[in-house]
Amino acid sequence: MSASPETDARFRALIRDVPDYPKPGIVFKDITPLVGDAAAFRMACEAMAAPFSESGITHVAAIESRGFLFGAPIAIALGAAVVPVRKRGKLPWESRAEEYELEYGTDALEMHVDAVPHGSRVLVVDDVLATGGTAAATCRLVERLGGTVAGCTFLMRLAFLPGMERLHDRRVVSLLAYD
Ligand code: AMP
Repeated sequence: MSASPETDARFRALIRDVPDYPKPGIVFKDITPLVGDAAAFRMACEAMAAPFSESGITHVAAIESRGFLFGAPIAIALGAAVVPVRKRGKLPWESRAEEYELEYGTDALEMHVDAVPHGSRVLVVDDVLATGGTAAATCRLVERLGGTVAGCTFLMRLAFLPGMERLHDRRVVSLLAYD
């Protein structure tokens, strides 16, 4: 699933490249112009949700932090609940963690133990799919907690990184691909 050529161009015009942020060599994809445009934000959320409208989604797992922006409206569009996937140490109640690799070392994502009970059908949401480490760890965490991952949806993917390969066994939607 990808956006129509007109929508694709409109979204791309609202995604700002910020070179060397947060560190040298990284081109940061700044989505604040897109979420700051009411009509484009709505279109993006609807397009990220639509492929899963018949998938029986009960919960959207929204990944900190820009995944929160898209996850909540997508959950409402699908008639689903929203559950936060947070960086280590941020959640107030009993949680489970899943580690994932960074360039140097590891980090961890956490969810509350009761976030996705058995029988939940979960859609994982984030803004950018890059190496896929974050989304893959989220999928593992959802499954450890008893949920079923019905798919993952992203605004964009960085096609020069192995995100799609990492999620090869998942149903993945991304509206835009950057080479
Ligand atoms: P990854 O685990 O490598 O797929 O990275 C995905 C996570 O890092 C997402 O939560 C993104 O918001 C963020 N991210 C990775 N690369 C970029 C980038 N070039 N621009 C903006 N966010 C990024």
